[in-house]
Amino acid sequence: MSSNTENTLLYITGTVHSGSSLLDMILNMHSDIISTGEVFKFSIDPNKTNCVCGDSLAECSFWSQIINEVLSKKNISIDELKTSFSTFAYQKPKFPLNEFLHLVGSKGLLKLFNFIPYIKRYQEVTTNTLELFDIIHQKSNKSIIVDSTKTATKMKSFTMFSNNVKIIRLIRDGRSFIPSLRKKKHIYGDLSLAEIVKYWKSSVRNIDLMLRQIDDSKVFTMRYEDFCSEPIEYLNKICQFLDLDYEEGLLEPNFDNFHSIPGNPWLNVKRGNKKIQIKQDEKWRTELSDEDLSQFEKLAGDFNRKLGYSN
Ligand SMILES: [Zn+2]
Repeated sequence: MSSNTENTLLYITGTVHSGSSLLDMILNMHSDIISTGEVFKFSIDPNKTNCVCGDSLAECSFWSQIINEVLSKKNISIDELKTSFSTFAYQKPKFPLNEFLHLVGSKGLLKLFNFIPYIKRYQEVTTNTLELFDIIHQKSNKSIIVDSTKTATKMKSFTMFSNNVKIIRLIRDGRSFIPSLRKKKHIYGDLSLAEIVKYWKSSVRNIDLMLRQIDDSKVFTMRYEDFCSEPIEYLNKICQFLDLDYEEGLLEPNFDNFHSIPGNPWLNVKRGNKKIQIKQDEKWRTELSDEDLSQFEKLAGDFNRKLGYSN
Protein backbone atom coordinates (compact mmCIF):
# COMPACT_ATOMS: atom_id res chain seq x y z
CA MET A 1 0.00 0.00 0.00
CA SER A 2 1.14 3.52 -0.55
CA SER A 3 1.64 6.35 1.87
CA ASN A 4 -0.83 8.45 -0.07
CA THR A 5 -3.65 9.29 2.29
CA GLU A 6 -5.30 11.98 0.19
CA ASN A 7 -8.13 10.99 -2.12
CA THR A 8 -7.44 11.81 -5.73
CA LEU A 9 -9.53 11.98 -8.86
CA LEU A 10 -7.57 10.71 -11.84
CA TYR A 11 -9.19 12.09 -14.97
CA ILE A 12 -8.27 10.55 -18.33
CA THR A 13 -8.50 13.00 -21.19
CA GLY A 14 -7.96 12.47 -24.90
CA THR A 15 -9.88 12.27 -28.15
CA VAL A 16 -12.34 9.45 -28.73
CA HIS A 17 -10.57 6.18 -29.63
CA SER A 18 -7.45 7.14 -27.69
CA GLY A 19 -7.24 3.87 -25.76
CA SER A 20 -8.77 5.07 -22.50
CA SER A 21 -10.99 1.99 -21.99
CA LEU A 22 -7.98 -0.32 -21.95
CA LEU A 23 -6.07 1.93 -19.54
CA ASP A 24 -9.15 2.26 -17.31
CA MET A 25 -9.40 -1.53 -17.06
CA ILE A 26 -5.69 -2.01 -16.30
CA LEU A 27 -5.54 0.73 -13.64
CA ASN A 28 -8.51 -0.85 -11.84
CA MET A 29 -6.25 -3.81 -10.97
CA HIS A 30 -4.15 -1.65 -8.62
CA SER A 31 -5.17 -2.14 -5.00
CA ASP A 32 -5.42 1.64 -4.42
CA ILE A 33 -7.35 2.47 -7.61
CA ILE A 34 -10.96 2.10 -8.65
CA SER A 35 -11.94 2.77 -12.27
CA THR A 36 -15.45 4.04 -12.77
CA GLY A 37 -15.40 4.49 -16.55
CA GLU A 38 -17.28 7.33 -18.20
CA VAL A 39 -18.94 8.72 -15.10
CA PHE A 40 -21.02 11.32 -16.96
CA LYS A 41 -23.27 8.39 -17.98
CA PHE A 42 -24.22 7.96 -14.33
CA SER A 43 -26.97 10.48 -15.06
CA ILE A 44 -28.64 8.27 -17.65
CA ASP A 45 -31.52 6.05 -16.47
CA PRO A 46 -29.79 3.48 -14.18
CA ASN A 47 -32.13 0.79 -15.51
CA LYS A 48 -30.95 1.45 -19.05
CA THR A 49 -27.22 2.03 -18.47
CA ASN A 50 -25.07 -1.08 -18.19
CA CYS A 51 -22.01 -1.65 -16.06
CA VAL A 52 -19.21 -3.75 -17.60
CA CYS A 53 -20.24 -6.58 -15.26
CA GLY A 54 -23.28 -6.99 -17.53
CA ASP A 55 -25.91 -5.77 -15.06
CA SER A 56 -27.68 -2.44 -15.31
CA LEU A 57 -26.38 0.20 -12.86
CA ALA A 58 -29.58 -0.25 -10.86
CA GLU A 59 -28.85 -3.98 -10.45
CA CYS A 60 -25.04 -3.99 -10.31
CA SER A 61 -23.71 -5.01 -6.88
CA PHE A 62 -21.41 -1.95 -6.79
CA TRP A 63 -23.41 0.83 -8.48
CA SER A 64 -26.71 -0.04 -6.80
CA GLN A 65 -25.05 0.68 -3.43
CA ILE A 66 -23.64 3.95 -4.72
CA ILE A 67 -27.02 4.99 -6.14
CA ASN A 68 -28.74 4.28 -2.81
CA GLU A 69 -26.13 6.29 -0.96
CA VAL A 70 -26.47 9.23 -3.37
CA LEU A 71 -30.26 9.19 -3.08
CA SER A 72 -30.17 9.19 0.70
CA LYS A 73 -27.35 11.75 1.04
CA LYS A 74 -28.89 14.19 -1.42
CA ASN A 75 -32.43 13.34 -0.40
CA ILE A 76 -33.55 12.92 -4.01
CA SER A 77 -35.60 10.35 -5.91
CA ILE A 78 -34.13 8.05 -8.55
CA ASP A 79 -35.75 10.22 -11.26
CA GLU A 80 -33.82 13.21 -9.98
CA LEU A 81 -30.48 11.51 -10.64
CA LYS A 82 -30.77 12.70 -14.23
CA THR A 83 -31.28 16.32 -13.32
CA SER A 84 -28.55 16.27 -10.66
CA PHE A 85 -25.75 14.89 -12.80
CA SER A 86 -26.52 16.19 -16.26
CA THR A 87 -27.29 19.38 -18.16
CA PHE A 88 -29.56 17.56 -20.59
CA ALA A 89 -32.67 19.61 -19.75
CA TYR A 90 -30.91 22.94 -20.29
CA GLN A 91 -30.28 24.66 -23.55
CA LYS A 92 -26.59 25.13 -24.28
CA PRO A 93 -25.65 28.70 -25.28
CA LYS A 94 -25.00 28.93 -29.05
CA PHE A 95 -21.64 30.65 -28.64
CA PRO A 96 -19.30 28.22 -26.77
CA LEU A 97 -19.67 30.41 -23.70
CA ASN A 98 -19.34 27.63 -21.13
CA GLU A 99 -16.13 26.40 -22.79
CA PHE A 100 -14.79 29.97 -22.93
CA LEU A 101 -15.50 30.60 -19.24
CA HIS A 102 -13.77 27.35 -18.30
CA LEU A 103 -10.85 28.31 -20.49
CA VAL A 104 -10.48 31.57 -18.55
CA GLY A 105 -10.69 29.43 -15.46
CA SER A 106 -12.15 31.89 -12.94
CA LYS A 107 -14.88 30.64 -10.62
CA GLY A 108 -15.94 34.25 -9.94
CA LEU A 109 -16.45 34.88 -13.63
CA LEU A 110 -18.42 31.64 -13.98
CA LYS A 111 -20.75 32.73 -11.18
CA LEU A 112 -21.43 36.04 -12.93
CA PHE A 113 -23.08 34.00 -15.68
CA ASN A 114 -25.31 32.02 -13.33
CA PHE A 115 -28.32 33.79 -14.80
CA ILE A 116 -27.89 31.41 -17.76
CA PRO A 117 -29.45 28.13 -16.50
CA TYR A 118 -27.03 25.92 -18.49
CA ILE A 119 -23.93 27.61 -17.02
CA LYS A 120 -25.32 27.38 -13.49
CA ARG A 121 -26.31 23.74 -13.93
CA TYR A 122 -22.89 22.81 -15.33
CA GLN A 123 -21.26 23.97 -12.08
CA GLU A 124 -23.85 22.09 -10.01
CA VAL A 125 -23.19 18.92 -12.02
CA THR A 126 -19.47 19.30 -11.29
CA THR A 127 -19.95 19.71 -7.53
CA ASN A 128 -22.51 16.86 -7.47
CA THR A 129 -20.10 14.60 -9.35
CA LEU A 130 -17.28 15.47 -6.92
CA GLU A 131 -19.66 14.47 -4.08
CA LEU A 132 -20.37 11.24 -5.96
CA PHE A 133 -16.60 10.59 -6.04
CA ASP A 134 -16.45 11.14 -2.26
CA ILE A 135 -19.12 8.48 -1.82
CA ILE A 136 -17.20 6.11 -4.12
CA HIS A 137 -14.00 6.74 -2.12
CA GLN A 138 -15.80 5.85 1.11
CA LYS A 139 -17.58 2.78 -0.24
CA SER A 140 -14.62 1.37 -2.14
CA ASN A 141 -11.91 2.33 0.33
CA LYS A 142 -9.63 3.20 -2.59
CA SER A 143 -7.65 6.43 -2.62
CA ILE A 144 -7.75 7.01 -6.37
CA ILE A 145 -10.83 7.11 -8.57
CA VAL A 146 -10.44 7.03 -12.33
CA ASP A 147 -12.96 8.88 -14.50
CA SER A 148 -12.34 8.32 -18.21
CA THR A 149 -15.04 10.65 -19.51
CA LYS A 150 -12.27 12.43 -21.51
CA THR A 151 -14.10 15.72 -22.25
CA ALA A 152 -11.77 18.72 -21.90
CA THR A 153 -14.31 21.13 -20.37
CA LYS A 154 -15.29 18.61 -17.70
CA MET A 155 -11.61 18.07 -16.90
CA LYS A 156 -11.11 21.81 -16.46
CA SER A 157 -14.25 22.10 -14.39
CA PHE A 158 -13.06 19.42 -11.94
CA THR A 159 -9.70 21.18 -11.54
CA MET A 160 -11.51 24.47 -10.82
CA PHE A 161 -13.66 22.92 -8.09
CA SER A 162 -11.17 20.51 -6.50
CA ASN A 163 -7.44 20.60 -5.75
CA ASN A 164 -7.15 16.83 -5.77
CA VAL A 165 -7.33 16.15 -9.49
CA LYS A 166 -4.59 14.55 -11.56
CA ILE A 167 -4.81 14.06 -15.30
CA ILE A 168 -3.56 11.48 -17.76
CA ARG A 169 -3.58 12.85 -21.24
CA LEU A 170 -3.66 10.17 -23.92
CA ILE A 171 -2.42 11.03 -27.37
CA ARG A 172 -2.90 8.86 -30.43
CA ASP A 173 -1.70 9.02 -34.01
CA GLY A 174 -4.22 11.07 -36.01
CA ARG A 175 -4.03 8.56 -38.85
CA SER A 176 -5.48 5.79 -36.67
CA PHE A 177 -8.46 8.03 -35.94
CA ILE A 178 -9.62 7.89 -39.58
CA PRO A 179 -10.45 4.16 -39.93
CA SER A 180 -11.95 4.18 -36.39
CA LEU A 181 -14.44 6.90 -37.27
CA ARG A 182 -15.18 5.46 -40.70
CA LYS A 183 -16.25 2.24 -38.97
CA LYS A 184 -18.60 4.16 -36.66
CA LYS A 185 -20.85 5.79 -39.26
CA HIS A 186 -23.86 4.97 -37.09
CA ILE A 187 -22.47 7.33 -34.43
CA TYR A 188 -20.54 10.00 -36.31
CA GLY A 189 -22.29 9.97 -39.68
CA ASP A 190 -20.72 9.59 -43.09
CA LEU A 191 -17.81 12.00 -42.67
CA SER A 192 -15.25 12.81 -45.34
CA LEU A 193 -11.57 12.43 -44.48
CA ALA A 194 -11.26 16.23 -44.24
CA GLU A 195 -14.15 16.36 -41.75
CA ILE A 196 -12.67 13.55 -39.65
CA VAL A 197 -9.28 15.28 -39.58
CA LYS A 198 -10.90 18.60 -38.67
CA TYR A 199 -12.79 16.94 -35.80
CA TRP A 200 -9.64 15.23 -34.53
CA LYS A 201 -7.53 18.42 -34.70
CA SER A 202 -10.13 20.50 -32.91
CA SER A 203 -10.45 17.88 -30.14
CA VAL A 204 -6.68 17.83 -29.64
CA ARG A 205 -6.48 21.66 -29.67
CA ASN A 206 -9.36 21.96 -27.23
CA ILE A 207 -7.59 19.68 -24.74
CA ASP A 208 -4.36 21.66 -25.24
CA LEU A 209 -6.13 24.92 -24.46
CA MET A 210 -7.91 23.61 -21.37
CA LEU A 211 -4.64 22.18 -20.04
CA ARG A 212 -2.81 25.49 -20.34
CA GLN A 213 -3.59 26.78 -16.86
CA ILE A 214 -3.24 23.42 -15.16
CA ASP A 215 0.02 22.84 -13.31
CA ASP A 216 2.34 20.53 -15.29
CA SER A 217 2.97 18.44 -12.19
CA LYS A 218 -0.69 17.38 -12.27
CA VAL A 219 -0.58 16.13 -15.85
CA PHE A 220 0.94 12.95 -17.25
CA THR A 221 1.03 12.87 -21.04
CA MET A 222 1.39 9.53 -22.80
CA ARG A 223 1.22 8.40 -26.39
CA TYR A 224 -1.00 5.34 -26.60
CA GLU A 225 1.46 3.70 -29.00
CA ASP A 226 4.31 4.15 -26.47
CA PHE A 227 2.16 2.58 -23.76
CA CYS A 228 1.47 -0.40 -26.03
CA SER A 229 5.17 -0.97 -26.75
CA GLU A 230 6.33 -0.63 -23.12
CA PRO A 231 3.29 -1.17 -20.90
CA ILE A 232 5.20 -2.10 -17.74
CA GLU A 233 7.55 0.86 -18.04
CA TYR A 234 4.60 3.23 -18.49
CA LEU A 235 2.57 1.68 -15.67
CA ASN A 236 5.58 2.25 -13.41
CA LYS A 237 5.65 5.89 -14.51
CA ILE A 238 1.91 6.27 -13.90
CA CYS A 239 2.25 4.80 -10.39
CA GLN A 240 5.07 7.24 -9.68
CA PHE A 241 2.92 10.12 -10.94
CA LEU A 242 0.12 8.98 -8.59
CA ASP A 243 2.52 8.50 -5.62
CA LEU A 244 1.65 4.81 -5.58
CA ASP A 245 3.87 1.76 -5.41
CA TYR A 246 3.94 -0.28 -8.60
CA GLU A 247 2.17 -3.61 -8.27
CA GLU A 248 2.69 -6.82 -10.21
CA GLY A 249 -0.23 -8.29 -12.09
CA LEU A 250 -1.75 -5.08 -13.48
CA LEU A 251 -1.84 -6.71 -16.90
CA GLU A 252 -3.78 -9.71 -15.61
CA PRO A 253 -7.16 -8.20 -14.83
CA ASN A 254 -9.71 -9.90 -12.67
CA PHE A 255 -13.04 -8.82 -14.08
CA ASP A 256 -14.88 -9.84 -10.90
CA ASN A 257 -13.94 -6.54 -9.31
CA PHE A 258 -14.47 -4.35 -12.33
CA HIS A 259 -17.57 -2.16 -12.26
CA SER A 260 -16.90 0.58 -14.76
CA ILE A 261 -19.43 2.45 -16.90
CA PRO A 262 -18.15 1.59 -20.36
CA GLY A 263 -17.45 4.09 -23.10
CA ASN A 264 -16.48 1.34 -25.43
CA PRO A 265 -19.11 -1.33 -26.20
CA TRP A 266 -16.54 -4.16 -26.29
CA LEU A 267 -16.15 -3.74 -22.57
CA ASN A 268 -19.75 -4.85 -22.15
CA VAL A 269 -18.68 -8.37 -22.94
CA LYS A 270 -17.94 -10.41 -19.86
CA ARG A 271 -14.51 -11.97 -20.10
CA GLY A 272 -12.52 -14.69 -18.44
CA ASN A 273 -9.62 -13.77 -16.19
CA LYS A 274 -6.98 -13.99 -18.83
CA LYS A 275 -4.02 -11.82 -19.43
CA ILE A 276 -4.69 -8.74 -21.53
CA GLN A 277 -2.91 -8.73 -24.84
CA ILE A 278 -1.68 -5.23 -25.50
CA LYS A 279 -0.94 -4.94 -29.15
CA GLN A 280 0.03 -2.01 -31.30
CA ASP A 281 -2.98 -1.07 -33.39
CA GLU A 282 -1.53 0.19 -36.64
CA LYS A 283 -4.35 -0.95 -38.89
CA TRP A 284 -4.35 2.48 -40.48
CA ARG A 285 -1.14 1.48 -42.30
CA THR A 286 -3.10 -1.03 -44.36
CA GLU A 287 -6.57 0.51 -44.22
CA LEU A 288 -5.69 3.97 -45.51
CA SER A 289 -5.13 4.39 -49.24
CA ASP A 290 -2.22 6.39 -50.69
CA GLU A 291 -4.71 9.10 -51.50
CA ASP A 292 -5.96 9.14 -47.86
CA LEU A 293 -2.39 9.40 -46.62
CA SER A 294 -1.47 12.23 -48.93
CA GLN A 295 -4.64 14.12 -48.00
CA PHE A 296 -3.87 13.59 -44.31
CA GLU A 297 -0.33 14.84 -44.86
CA LYS A 298 -1.64 18.07 -46.42
CA LEU A 299 -4.24 18.65 -43.71
CA ALA A 300 -2.44 17.52 -40.59
CA GLY A 301 1.05 16.14 -41.33
CA ASP A 302 2.87 18.85 -39.33
CA PHE A 303 0.25 18.78 -36.58
CA ASN A 304 0.70 15.00 -36.18
CA ARG A 305 4.51 15.30 -36.20
CA LYS A 306 4.33 17.83 -33.36
CA LEU A 307 2.57 15.14 -31.35
CA GLY A 308 5.55 12.88 -32.02
CA TYR A 309 4.42 10.86 -35.03
CA SER A 310 7.13 11.15 -37.62
CA ASN A 311 6.72 8.11 -39.85
ZN1 LIG B 1 -21.19 -3.79 -12.15
